[in-house]
Amino acid sequence: MGYRVMIGLEMHCEISETNTKVFSSARNDYNEYPNVSVRPVDMAFPGTLPVVNKEAVKMALMTSIVLGCQQPEYLYFERKNYYYPDLPKGFQITQETKPAPIGSYGVFNYELKGEKKSVRINNLHLEEDAASSDHYPSGSRINYNRAGVPLLELVTEPDFRSADEAVAFLETMRSIYQYLGISEADSKKGQVRCDVNVSIMDDSLDESDPKNWGTKVEMKNVNSFGGVRDAINYEIERQTELLDEGRGDEIEQETRRWDEESGTTIHMRSKVDAIDYKYFVEPNIPKFKIPKEWLEEIKSKIPRLPSERKEDYINNYGITDYDATIIVKEKKVSDFYEECIELGADPKKASNWITTNLLGNLNKLELEFDDMTLTPAMLKELIDLVENKEISSKQAKEVFEDVLTSGKTPKMVVKEKGMKQMSDEGEIIKIANEVLDENPKAIEQYKNGRTNVVDFLTGQIMKKTRGTANPTIARSTMASEIEKR
Ligand code: ADP
Ligand code: MG
Repeated sequence: MGYRVMIGLEMHCEISETNTKVFSSARNDYNEYPNVSVRPVDMAFPGTLPVVNKEAVKMALMTSIVLGCQQPEYLYFERKNYYYPDLPKGFQITQETKPAPIGSYGVFNYELKGEKKSVRINNLHLEEDAASSDHYPSGSRINYNRAGVPLLELVTEPDFRSADEAVAFLETMRSIYQYLGISEADSKKGQVRCDVNVSIMDDSLDESDPKNWGTKVEMKNVNSFGGVRDAINYEIERQTELLDEGRGDEIEQETRRWDEESGTTIHMRSKVDAIDYKYFVEPNIPKFKIPKEWLEEIKSKIPRLPSERKEDYINNYGITDYDATIIVKEKKVSDFYEECIELGADPKKASNWITTNLLGNLNKLELEFDDMTLTPAMLKELIDLVENKEISSKQAKEVFEDVLTSGKTPKMVVKEKGMKQMSDEGEIIKIANEVLDENPKAIEQYKNGRTNVVDFLTGQIMKKTRGTANPTIARSTMASEIEKR
């Protein structure tokens, strides 16, 4: 039988850009000392009540709109009941799919290597993050800083057919969260976590009937997009092998853990004994009618998204689809690019510098964008130095590598290295004639028709000037000076 892979994602993204938590006035920041960003309600003290953060709701609604989802008439929350040491309340405030979460029934378009793809969004909901457990040799401790950090959970339909599609979607969502000013969406900081569901069905059956779907395996808390890719590919291979061997019935509905170290998935628990969370509407948060005008206002304030910026770059700046895709991937890079252009840099040249030298060097040096000292003004200065023929493009690359992290400006580096390109024609004419005086044989050959000695003689100018002469000027000068002999 032919196989069809089905992949569904549950993407959790912390909202990092609100000042406070989703149901309390504690600061929304957990990257410092343990238990400093905490209010009694985050620790479930008796008698405390949650207060909904309007800013977090606004960001959730904005995401819902961008995902092409329907927004609910009323906003309300539900309790998901379970006990865990890092969940002192004994429940998480979240939104189940009934009556309606912050977003449902969406359709979202994204691209994979220039090809348009589409995924249906089952739902988007706003919830609170749990505290975290820190484990020490002396025992485990609970850190409540993360308790109540706003979290958006996005659940897709199983519409992805490959690991590449799933990862392309996640990368698009990450940049959208950044562009919307909702989250840094940094997986290294634990702000993005994914559950990945994979199954394989008989290709000849009708996909629109869920009864025909294969048994799905869920992999929880995969913490990097690379991990998502590897986990999916591993699971496709594992399930395919079982099916090929006629052991399809051994694929059980289970939760597996992606083990980064061994590159395999490991059984955690079978879904048969799935926990019953006994959802009910959170009684301490009154349901709230979402005003139509508010939705309209949010809609009108959605910033330019990566896809729009990309179109702009291709249509107005004439850069390639490929380069535009690289630039818009990270908001910081795209902002840097736009600032260069605002300062008057040539859009194509700026794009070349950013996509090849800037990102290439950062990658090579294993540095983050924030680690560099290069500013848009410096890149513009460097482009101008080449444009005005003050340095050669080869020298510019060397200057670039220096200014990337040294905090120096291109002009400082050029001066320091005594690097100025010699473009002074009078000076080059003088050197050309020195070269000609030293090579009477070459002049003779030239007169006998061997005009390509000009190349050799130009090379001699370059040698004498230790490569600083402008090669184009050196060549044209030699060509005209030799004629005068
Ligand atoms: P559960 O109740 O186990 O959490 P849901 O039906 O809520 O399962 O779906 C959770 C996720 O699993 C969704 O992203 C959904 O698209 C995905 N999913 C559901 N069925 C399949 C399947 N057969 N293959 C792959 N993914 C699936
Ligand atoms: Mg959830």
